Amino acid sequence: MRLFSLILLLFSGWIIHGQKDPFESARQKMVETQIVSRGITDRATLEAMRKVPRHLFVPSAFIADAYTDGPMLIGYGQTISQPFIVAYMTELSHPERGKTALEIGTGSGYQAAVLAEIVDTVYTIEIVPELALEASARLARLGYKNIVPKYGDGYKGWPEHAPFDIILVTAATDHIPQPLIEQLAEGGRLVMPVGNPAGVQELILLTKRKGKITETRLVPVRFVPLKRLR
Ligand code: SAH
Repeated sequence: MRLFSLILLLFSGWIIHGQKDPFESARQKMVETQIVSRGITDRATLEAMRKVPRHLFVPSAFIADAYTDGPMLIGYGQTISQPFIVAYMTELSHPERGKTALEIGTGSGYQAAVLAEIVDTVYTIEIVPELALEASARLARLGYKNIVPKYGDGYKGWPEHAPFDIILVTAATDHIPQPLIEQLAEGGRLVMPVGNPAGVQELILLTKRKGKITETRLVPVRFVPLKRLR
């Protein structure tokens, strides 16, 4: 009996140990050295970046590099954005509980997960079917019940769920898609890269107040091109 309890104790210890996140300290370091140090101050954004296990959003072969200061390949010619860019776009969108967000370009699902830690619901659209499938399985496995993913062309937004307080586009075009401007709520904020899709773009913040659109140009960025379904 005693031996049995000992084995049980060892076994449960192993399970608890097995569940401990081996990347916890790498993630906290990422937030301090790449994000806080570059001026991100929004508390909710920082908390979300401290919490979401980025290593579970990258291909397992590259898991050791998940917290490095740059974008990473996720397959199908696509990338997961650099941690700082995810934090910066999140902060710019003024995320708060009670808000609804739309993301165009689910990719790995990481940006959607960061937003979903803060806002009520995140709708997210991905145009590469394999990535859409992988991301939705991953987000379900990680328990994100407030993310609604779908496969499709995000250029047209998601009119059935509009308006959105937040719209993030994580792929580049040379103009802001008109359907997205229309689906932005009063007081809403849209953040996206605009410019040469094959080169460097500018991160743009678009706000809508009393129906009036204001555009602010921020920093140079480099995103993969926004594709269109034909
Ligand atoms: N936000 C992602 C990174 C996205 S990379 C993350 O956190 O991992 C850009 C993604 O946009 C790619 O996966 C690409 O396939 C997708 N994409 C490109 N054009 C699109 C479109 N028209 N609609 C939806 N997704 C699109």
